[in-house]
Amino acid sequence: MVTTEKKSIEKREIIIIGSGPAGLSAALYAARADLSPIVLTGMTLHGQASVTDTIENYPGFPEGIGGTELGQLFQTQAERFGAEVVMDQVTSVDLKKRPFLVETYGTQFEANAIIICTGADHRKLNIPGEKSFTGRGVSYCGTCDGWFFKDKEIVVVGGGDSALEEGLFLTRFAKSVTIIHRRDELRAGAILQKRAFGNPKIHFIWDTIVTEIIGNDKVNAVKLENVKSKEGSIHKTEGVFIFIGHTPNSDLFAGQLPLDENGYLIVNNIMETSLPGVFAAGEVADPDFRQVITSAGMGAAAAIQATRYLDELDEKE
Ligand code: NAP
Repeated sequence: MVTTEKKSIEKREIIIIGSGPAGLSAALYAARADLSPIVLTGMTLHGQASVTDTIENYPGFPEGIGGTELGQLFQTQAERFGAEVVMDQVTSVDLKKRPFLVETYGTQFEANAIIICTGADHRKLNIPGEKSFTGRGVSYCGTCDGWFFKDKEIVVVGGGDSALEEGLFLTRFAKSVTIIHRRDELRAGAILQKRAFGNPKIHFIWDTIVTEIIGNDKVNAVKLENVKSKEGSIHKTEGVFIFIGHTPNSDLFAGQLPLDENGYLIVNNIMETSLPGVFAAGEVADPDFRQVITSAGMGAAAAIQATRYLDELDEKE
């Protein structure tokens, strides 16, 4: 249905775009500064961390904590001080206007300050079969889809922390998990490497890339190429889990804010973008660390700096 109904404009002091650890930490700090922040959640409520089975490196939880549970705790704590979390997706922003204009599917907002915490998305292999078999054997989330691969032989692509962590998680369901990595050395940290090498269900194929995902209704094999010998082969599998890093969700801001060569928003050490009043935090602005704790810290810093900015704006008026 096409609607011509005009959206109402809501005026806000500060808008936070994104609801992962950075967004909800920013919301907590902005709420405690009495700014009544609104958090526009985007499609992934609580961000990527919320689909992680167990988070073992966020301090305060010595036994680890589920990603979903931690996300909910972040939200509850921010709401306790007055943050409003709204399930809506930002469709456009106009940063040339003052106050800034933020448009969602449901509403138009005006705000004097914005904190961008839109996170990052799964990087794709961009090979034949990847798109067409997504949801039919190709997945980017072990926690979401692992259950469907009970007693099946599956592959994981990647050699970083995500590939190993998710690969280990998938051994709960799968008969075997073969990790295919393009080099002969893992990028993942030592603890995960030790666990993966010690798990009898995990196998490795080194120096190899996946060049095509093949099947009929569902995936039944991957085409491989050894990067050293250039030899090709077919590896039978019913599931392909891809964990090869992330790309920042910065498209909304392209042309309005400077991005680096990989699409990350550029911020200074106090989370300011080049535009006064616009701040960014978390994975959309962090090519280096991408941890729950670093994102949360960036979010808190962005809100503290945004509060200072709004105080100065008040004094000028
Ligand atoms: P990552 O560290 O960037 O690793 C990506 C992996 O995918 C690398 O091994 C890379 O190979 C491989 N890769 C990239 N593009 C590829 C391609 N086109 N084809 C084949 N392989 C490709 O990403 P991540 O594992 O998602 O981790 C992201 C961040 O989150 C990291 O900072 C990580 O420490 C953190 N993280 C931490 C934990 C934890 O602490 N428990 C868990 C998950 C993630 P190369 O090695 O050859 O570059």
